[in-house]
Parts: sequence; C-alpha cells; structure tokens
Amino acid sequence: MNPMEQLIDSFGRVHNNLRISVTDRCNIRCFYCMPTEDVVFMQRNQLLTFEEIERVVRVGVTVGINKIRLTGGEPLVRRDLDQLISKVAAIPGIRDVGLTTNGILLAEQAQQLFDAGLRRINISLDALDPVKFKEITRREGYEKVIEGIHAAKAAGFDPVKINAVSIRGVTESEIVPFGKLAREAGVEIRFIEFMPLDSDNAWERDKVLFADEIVDTLSREIMPLLPMKNRDPQAPATEYVFEDGVGRIGLIASVSRPFCMSCNRFRLTADGKFRNCLFSLEETDVKSLIRGSGTDADIARAMIESIQAKKIGHEINSANYVQPIRPMHSIGG
Ligand code: SAM
Ligand code: SF4
Repeated sequence: MNPMEQLIDSFGRVHNNLRISVTDRCNIRCFYCMPTEDVVFMQRNQLLTFEEIERVVRVGVTVGINKIRLTGGEPLVRRDLDQLISKVAAIPGIRDVGLTTNGILLAEQAQQLFDAGLRRINISLDALDPVKFKEITRREGYEKVIEGIHAAKAAGFDPVKINAVSIRGVTESEIVPFGKLAREAGVEIRFIEFMPLDSDNAWERDKVLFADEIVDTLSREIMPLLPMKNRDPQAPATEYVFEDGVGRIGLIASVSRPFCMSCNRFRLTADGKFRNCLFSLEETDVKSLIRGSGTDADIARAMIESIQAKKIGHEINSANYVQPIRPMHSIGG
C-alpha cells in the first residue's frame, strides 16, 4: 500500500476525493433538496472558517486526499470563496479542485474563480425551459444560470459540465433539448437520478426517471449513444458519446445502478462533520477537535476511523432504507 493511501475502508476502497460543503444556505429552493420556506440554517459561527477547512485539507493530504470539490448549499453565496480556492489549490499534493454550483452567481465570479485555481466546474440546471426551471427551483434565476454557463466557458473552464436531476413526471421534456445542447454548445450533460435526500421526504422510486430510459430516448430521438472508452472507473457518471462523435452525455444512475463499490469520496459538512457516505446516518465531529485541543494526528485518525466504518453501500433499493436527517443542502451534494 502506498503510505499516503491510509484512507482505505474494510472493502478495500481507497479514498482520495474530499467533498467540502462551505455552506448550507442557498439562493434557490429546488424541491428535491430544500423546503420552500422556513429553512433553519446553520449559525455562521457553526461554519468552519476557511483556515479550518484548509487545515483539514492539509491533514487529509497526509493520508491520501488529492482531489477536492467544493459544494453546499450554494457555494457561491459564501463570501470570498475564491480565497478558499487559492488556499486549497496551493496545498502541495492537491492536484484537482472542482466546484458544483447552481450558476446563479457564476457570471460575476467565474473569472475570479478560474484565476484562483479552480479548473473543474459543474453547473446544475435541470431544465432548459424557463417555466420548468421555476417550477423546480421555486425561484427566478434561469437567465442568470445561462449567463453563468457562458461566463464559465469564457473564463476558460473546459469542460463545463451541466448536472440535471431526472425526475419522472417533471423532466422528460428536457431530455432531448439537453441532448441537442450537448451537441451544439460543447458542454457535457450529466443526468442524475433523483435520490431520496430531499427535505420534504417526498421521494418515491416511481419518481425516478431512470438512466436507461434517458439513453433510449436520446438514442431514438437524436442518434445512438455509444459508451465512451477510457473513462475513469471511479467516476460516478457512465459516459456516452453520440455515434458521430459529437456531444457527450453522462448518466449518474445512483438508484438503478449504484456505484458504491467504486466510491472514493469522503465528505466534510459546512458545520465540521465528517461523513463517509452521502447516505450515512452517522457522522464524526471534527470541528470539536479543531476548536478544542485536537492535533493534526487526531484529525487524521478521525478521518481514517470514519472511512474504516464505511458501509458497503447505500440501501436506497431496500425496504430498510432510512433517509438521513440532513437533507442534501446540509450534507453537501
Ligand atoms: N447548490 C449547488 C448545486 O445545486 O449545484 C451545489 C449543491 S447541490 C446539493 C449538488 C448537486 O446535488 C446538484 O447537482 C443537485 O442537483 C444535486 N441534488 C440535490 N438534491 C438531489 C436529489 N435529491 N437527488 C439527486 N441529486 C440531487
Ligand atoms: Fe440549492 Fe443546489 Fe439544493 Fe438546488 S440543489 S436547492 S441549488 S443546494
């Protein structure tokens, strides 16, 4: 074993990818994630500071972390995020810093983020129809997201990936327009199956629009999709390309084809808890170590122990599935 690879669980999975939530706040209210109103947010003093996050990353590198993704809530509502990106990107051993954003504030920040060292960006947009966008997000902002996508490309992000949650009865009409966008605009569209992590606890299996149906629709309505070769075996998306080589589509089939056995991801919540899985019911409080007398070795041990306790996979498809108390915006997607 590489001495850096200490984040290995009892099923042999090596973890190198840390997803950091920087806030649970958001400027929109996607129904599959947040409640419409009266959200109780974390107090500001509960949030890890940039210096505290930087410390966790530095410690993480000593045990094998080399990839970071910032998320939330909406990460771009956290003031001066570019400063965190500069700090994290400069840590020796970090080879990749990514961001997942809803894109609303991206047009004004894209260049700053790129200049700070961010290279990978995923923009979430579930519908190309502005009316449907508002139905899903329960807020205005469609035009701003589109501006954000253009700004990301202009700033130099390549590829720009678009994440679209697939919900039966809601997003079927968006499949073909997204397929065409992938071909015309040179962005990769990644369809994500709706997962049971919504605040309203309204998820049902019948509300998931499955990856295979999306592949069938695109293959029938546009042209056949072919699986791509040489993809990263640990990436959650199965990637396809249209038969003529133009337009990439990713499918994140978390419900119909769980990819838990190749998971290399570990999470830090905005309020300083380690989570070894999106669906985990247990957390490790690292903030109390950081703000108490915990040493770097204590933080590393907490990370290793959390990973050692990781379960084999989620139980979405089982009658025993128990939804975590934290909804997606508070976990960090
Ligand atoms: N606010 C940012 C955004 O929306 O991109 C980052 C945080 S969001 C929680 C991260 C990703 O999780 C987004 O692509 C979002 O669409 C996805 N997501 C949220 N709730 C989900 C759910 N219940 N099922 C599937 N994906 C979900
Ligand atoms: Fe906000 Fe992202 Fe959740 Fe939508 S998915 S409500 S943009 S945190």
